[in-house]
Amino acid sequence: MPFGNRKIEGFIIKTEMSNSEGLKFLIEPLDDLPWFDENMLKTSEWISHYYLCSLAEAMRLFIPGKTGLKSYLTYQVNDAIAFDQAVLILSLKSDQYLTVYQYLVTNGPATLPQIQKTFPDNCLKILNDLISKKLIFKDYKLNKQIKPKYITVLSRAIDKDAFQEHLKGSMGKPAQQRLLTALLDKEILDNNDLKQLKVSSDTIKRLVTAGLITVGKKRLMRDSYSNISGNYEKISLNQDQEFVLKKLLSTIHGQSYQSFLLHGITGSGKTQVYIEAVAEVRKKGRQAIILVPEIALTSQIVARFRARFHDDIVVMHSKLSINERNDAIQRLRIDQAGIVIGARSAIFAPLENLGIIIIDEEHEFTYKQEEAPRYHTREVAFKRAQLASALVVLGSATPSVETYYEAIEHKHTLLEMPNRVDGASLPAIELVDMREELRRGRRNVISLPLQNLIHNTIEQGEQVIILLNRRGYSTFVMCRECGYVISCNQCAVSMVYHKAGNLRCHYCQSSVSPPDVCPSCSSRYIRYFGTGTQRLEDELVKIFPNARMIRMDQDTTGGKMAHDRILHSFAQGNYDILLGTQMVAKGHDIKNVTAVGIITADSVLNLPDFRAAERTFSLLTQAAGRAGRGEVSGKVVIQTYNPEHYAIEDGAKHDYKAFYDKEIVFRKSLDYPPFSKITKLTITAPGESEVRHKAETIAADLRVALGEDSKFIQGPFLATIAKINNSFRMNILIKSLDHSNVNQHILRLNLHMRPDIIIDIDPLNVM
Ligand code: ADP
Ligand code: ZN
Ligand code: ZN
Repeated sequence: MPFGNRKIEGFIIKTEMSNSEGLKFLIEPLDDLPWFDENMLKTSEWISHYYLCSLAEAMRLFIPGKTGLKSYLTYQVNDAIAFDQAVLILSLKSDQYLTVYQYLVTNGPATLPQIQKTFPDNCLKILNDLISKKLIFKDYKLNKQIKPKYITVLSRAIDKDAFQEHLKGSMGKPAQQRLLTALLDKEILDNNDLKQLKVSSDTIKRLVTAGLITVGKKRLMRDSYSNISGNYEKISLNQDQEFVLKKLLSTIHGQSYQSFLLHGITGSGKTQVYIEAVAEVRKKGRQAIILVPEIALTSQIVARFRARFHDDIVVMHSKLSINERNDAIQRLRIDQAGIVIGARSAIFAPLENLGIIIIDEEHEFTYKQEEAPRYHTREVAFKRAQLASALVVLGSATPSVETYYEAIEHKHTLLEMPNRVDGASLPAIELVDMREELRRGRRNVISLPLQNLIHNTIEQGEQVIILLNRRGYSTFVMCRECGYVISCNQCAVSMVYHKAGNLRCHYCQSSVSPPDVCPSCSSRYIRYFGTGTQRLEDELVKIFPNARMIRMDQDTTGGKMAHDRILHSFAQGNYDILLGTQMVAKGHDIKNVTAVGIITADSVLNLPDFRAAERTFSLLTQAAGRAGRGEVSGKVVIQTYNPEHYAIEDGAKHDYKAFYDKEIVFRKSLDYPPFSKITKLTITAPGESEVRHKAETIAADLRVALGEDSKFIQGPFLATIAKINNSFRMNILIKSLDHSNVNQHILRLNLHMRPDIIIDIDPLNVM
């Protein structure tokens, strides 16, 4: 659509007849099929109301790669002026003007960087002069990013019977005969077929000229996951699984909206239940979305689903190339596949006959998008399922406190699977009090009980997973003389030492080399504190020089498949110890892992956030759940400075209910969710006093607006990370029973339009 002299992309939501005055023409539709069905549009509208973003922002969530086109600026020649006329016009200018003009005549439209490459000097000035003389003009060109990939294929040019007739009567060359015969069996032949048939391009040309075959194009669907497969064995469900499945099936048959919480301990066979439920949905001709919390976990679940459903699956997540994602969507639209597996963004898959949405590990924080629009996948899932009369199944061993509360309050049907399949027991967990270790003079990062566990496990030929919640070599660099901590001057967080020899900020990714002397007092006593994964690895190597070890954290898992390669290799038995950040704690199922060590159970517990206990409990339970999934029962060691905290105590007992009962009392006492809804406003400004002033004004406005309810406003207070990328941050928290009233005031005060305010509805972190 032309806007000024720019071409931009837009959505057509509805059309109506009206006076066309002042309206502009569409340049071209970007697609032959409509992107949005009515339910997708309604979901977008809901997102825009609930999360206070524009409708276009919400709709863009449904579109892979965010935008189908990019426009860029080009300079091009004005054809209305003939070349010799131009020469005349430029006769008083230096030769350079004519050469630049000539360049554009010969090369056609070009961008500024392109032109500058050939004419580095004075380029912009010359171009502007040429524009003022009307010899050239600027225009926006579109660059379609989505490029379907096609392969050349051969097919019959006449109908099959005629083709057969011809083949019978023909006395063609052997190569021609081979090709024609092959085309009788198959509708189309691709390059591979032709190679096998050994026919030359000459042969093909002749048959095309003879009007027997045609050369066409076929769209190729790209999919990095197409090689992943698993072996399908028929598994008969146990009693618990049967019971749960029966409940799901009756709703699937009824074709109405219902939500379920499947609370099943790790290894209770939840995934197997998902597979059976999806099979039933597909039998009804409806479609399924299965969500996992991290891209890295998709391959494992894809393998299990592919074993059962073969090519009926597409994978969708944000790390796919735009082309791959677009091909995936194309396969859904033309009904080549009906099951979508992926991370968060897969909830926006364009499915018109959605039957079920499964959210595995529903408690995971990754289901919330931390950039605008800040939606929670679970909420979007409820909305989509309601509109489509579909099921939502939330699965978890450690449901979020909110979800569990809603299940108890009958908003979701609660289904429980309290046992591991085939009666395997949960691993025994030993808590090691690190204060006690220190009292006994043991200063190692790895306590004696954990050392013994690792030793015995490796001895038996079994494998160990060690979880440390911090990456890098050591957490921070501090001066022992004056206490100065090296921190990022843009972000106000301590810099993390990495073995490569630099200090890195984990927020803005900037890095510096560690100083020899304290920048504050010039003392030489600058020391590394804390333990990161790299440092732990070194210590383990010292204690177990013969153990084969592999580390998995954000620093080792750059590529799309790096995480898979590490896990796969570990599962193959190539290593004794897998060591890493919370990634190692989640989702996988490796039978030979019989021991898990958790180095710092407290690192999450000490976060200044009301969900710290919940996060700790869930991390411990998930990590412990990796042990003993085979025949040998597992053992877990948890190191902590807070063994008496209920999150750790109940975590060590695998007792979700006990944890929940204490946690819910705490939430109630302070009116935290699920007893309230939270809106978080983060106000940003380049200066500290500026941010304070702005935040206080906004808080005051809101207090007036909310009147009686203003007692539910907290703040403004400095964010825990008070500065990111040189911008100061203050938070205001508003608790309410439902968002509609607060949202109204935010809209009225126009806070949602301000670029210096981040609005987070139902924030997962309030720090
Ligand atoms: P969860 O998703 O609850 O962690 P899974 O579905 O991954 O559990 O099951 C754990 C393991 O048990 C998997 O290897 C799975 O193949 C196997 N399994 C699941 N259900 C059964 C069953 N009914 N009988 C035997 N093995 C099963
Ligand atoms: Zn930084
Ligand atoms: Zn110092």
